[in-house]
Amino acid sequence: MKVVVLGTGDAFSKRNFGTSAVVIGPRGQVLIDAPDSVLRAMAAASRSAGIDVGPMTIDDILLTHLHGDHVNGLEAIGFLRWLEQRATGRPIPRLHTTAPVAARLWERLAPAMDQAGTANLADYFELHVLPTGSAAEIAGLSVRHRMGRHTIPCCGFLIADGSRTLGWSGDTAWDPDHVEWLSQADRVVHETSPAPAHTPVEYLNALPDGLRRKMVLVHASDDFDPSGTDIRLLRDGEMLDV
Ligand SMILES: [Zn+2]
Repeated sequence: MKVVVLGTGDAFSKRNFGTSAVVIGPRGQVLIDAPDSVLRAMAAASRSAGIDVGPMTIDDILLTHLHGDHVNGLEAIGFLRWLEQRATGRPIPRLHTTAPVAARLWERLAPAMDQAGTANLADYFELHVLPTGSAAEIAGLSVRHRMGRHTIPCCGFLIADGSRTLGWSGDTAWDPDHVEWLSQADRVVHETSPAPAHTPVEYLNALPDGLRRKMVLVHASDDFDPSGTDIRLLRDGEMLDV
């Protein structure tokens, strides 16, 4: 399984794009979260990773939570695909997320996207609530989710293609049960940033060798010191082999 890493920064980064990625599934590309400047991040990653990812190549979006550094890019994608649908009839993207995020997503987007009350969420995205306790089939991938510990509802993902599984922590404070759940994966992408909303790297440094070796980091602050850990921080625009 291949994953194009769009960004690795935290909400305040002046150096890196916000944390997000595109999973290359057997039947399509799946975007995980849509930070600010996601169109520029996708264009830059297309060049560096050598595979075209962009608003017109992605028909499925997974959303972890409603913080701006994970959803501010939805407006641009939504408007682009709304225009595309009107011009060519191409279906709008499917957006998959948890029930609490689905319940408030339009509240987040409406002031910018309701077109004076004439448009609603279904004009931009085909909303799918992720099932609890079972997997969703998305672009030929099996996707399970689990809520982490964040200041607002936020989930992580286990994404499997039948031979390999990617673990994606989402934003979470240190949560040993979440890490245990993610450890089923062949590769775990874990966030790191200061407590209390996030996971300081010291907790991850104390994990068993085998788990640490299959873990990589995202969502780091600009002053993150990579010499403080043997877990590799991903780079914006790299192709990650799961
Ligand atoms: Zn967050």
